[in-house]
Amino acid sequence: MEARKPSPTFCPKCGGSFVAFDRERMTLVGYGVVRGHVHDDNCLLRGYMCAVGHMTAISRRRRARCCDWRGKEDCECHPYKKCEEWPDVVVVTGKTVL
Ligand SMILES: [Zn+2]
Ligand SMILES: [Zn+2]
Ligand SMILES: [Zn+2]
Repeated sequence: MEARKPSPTFCPKCGGSFVAFDRERMTLVGYGVVRGHVHDDNCLLRGYMCAVGHMTAISRRRRARCCDWRGKEDCECHPYKKCEEWPDVVVVTGKTVL
């Protein structure tokens, strides 16, 4: 598998800031229960939009609440590595546009 780029914090097409993101989606794969709590590694995905309207699919890496488990960094459903925190954007379009 080719090396993936880190999750972008600016629009990869025009370099502009992201101004909004659409409704969050999650993949539905099974996840493991470890000693009574879940390690849910389903992908959280958002489509981030820049001022020009380019959409970029971004996924955030999962964490467990009560241990130091981390989800995988990479997966097939989006082109970039997962980010640790969502880009700092407050506007939600409420629509699924990707
Ligand atoms: Zn753009
Ligand atoms: Zn755990
Ligand atoms: Zn994914």
